[in-house]
Amino acid sequence: MLSSNLTIGENGHLYFGGHDTVELAKQYGTPLYVMDEVRIRENMRMYLDAFKTHFGEGSKPLYASKANSFKRIYEIAKEEGMGIDVVSSGEVYTAMKAGFDLGDAYFHSNNKTDEDIAFAIDNGIGYFVVDNREELDMIDQIAGQKGKKQAILLRLTPGVDPHTYEAIATGKVDSKFGTAIETGQAREMVRHTLTLPNIDLVGFHCHVGSQVFGEDIYERASEIMLKFMHECEQEFSVKFEKLDMGGGYGVRYLDGDGYVDIPEAIGRVAKHMKAYCEHLGMDMPKIFMEPGRSIVADAGLTLYTVGTIKKITGYKNYVSIDGGMTDNPRYALYEAKYTVYHANKPEAEKDLIADVVGRCCESGDIIQPNVALPEPKRGDILAVCTTGAYNYSMASNYNRVARPAMVMVTPETSYVAVRRESLEDIVRNDV
Ligand SMILES: *Cc1c(COP(=O)(O)O)cnc(C)c1O
Repeated sequence: MLSSNLTIGENGHLYFGGHDTVELAKQYGTPLYVMDEVRIRENMRMYLDAFKTHFGEGSKPLYASKANSFKRIYEIAKEEGMGIDVVSSGEVYTAMKAGFDLGDAYFHSNNKTDEDIAFAIDNGIGYFVVDNREELDMIDQIAGQKGKKQAILLRLTPGVDPHTYEAIATGKVDSKFGTAIETGQAREMVRHTLTLPNIDLVGFHCHVGSQVFGEDIYERASEIMLKFMHECEQEFSVKFEKLDMGGGYGVRYLDGDGYVDIPEAIGRVAKHMKAYCEHLGMDMPKIFMEPGRSIVADAGLTLYTVGTIKKITGYKNYVSIDGGMTDNPRYALYEAKYTVYHANKPEAEKDLIADVVGRCCESGDIIQPNVALPEPKRGDILAVCTTGAYNYSMASNYNRVARPAMVMVTPETSYVAVRRESLEDIVRNDV
């Protein structure tokens, strides 16, 4: 199976996190997001342990909560001792409502509004990761009005191409995110930041991209960042405490996909950074990373009920399900790959090739094309795997389709973490 939390039960059904997915679909209805709480915690601990071993005291992984943001996940992050990164007032508010200490939260985004800035400062945000000059000046101004000194990191682009999809590559010089080192603009930004009275510049950030498998991407990016930090420390006679290397480690969506041994990769990066700091003659800063996908992706799966099966003789076949781009827009956005199982009989002969498509009025509403499946019938359950990241958090109400419920499974039980939207929810804001 694609990941170790997927198994086949004695009844032949697909099991996830020890639970019969067909039973979960019956109990909670479909479409249904299912999250494996054990796997979320294992993934967090994998980072926490690797950080403890390789970077030591004061360094920390932050959960990039845009991957999947709902109250329960912030509770889990808090229990496990992860920091978080947030990108909007909505995420800040969700974390607050979950009782997460915002002192351990890092506020990202390439365009924070004045309202976002004020809201986050009022609620005690630990850090802003500042993208650009306008935003920097606004944070200084708003913090000043509130009589606060605000800690920030500057987001820089190290100019490293992570060899991932164009849409999720962010570390290149021409990115909409961050300030470029190569052009000299980053240096000028540091000079300016250090003159601002209400800003405490504690360090730097970069994020090269997402779904990264490349061997030495973080090593190369960290050299550029450390060198820049060191040069700034010397030029401006200051010390910077933190270096945040962003998120991005890749996960497996298909059996044929590569695999990143994350603890091993972190060990390698740490060793490289230590040697490079020594070479430069600088102290090793506290290191941060912001994994999103690799915390939640394989902890999630989506269950759908099959509706129409359309065979266009001589052309192609369609299997329509009761969800689609409203709960998973990733194929429509960037042709993301997924593994689809027939949950009732995953091991039966795969005698049908079909596009698994959604119910929305868009031809592009495709979950996955050319899937080989045991031929399903109306009412059967399909499971789309590795949907824990960037599915619920990207969901919409297009066609006024209600967003699915999210259910957490543990070895002992299952519980609703996000309720299914009702028809009343759909019209809630209509005046
Ligand atoms: C999206 C993002 C992340 C998380 O990336 P993953 O690929 O999900 O690990 C981390 N940091 C920043 C700044 C991001 O934009």
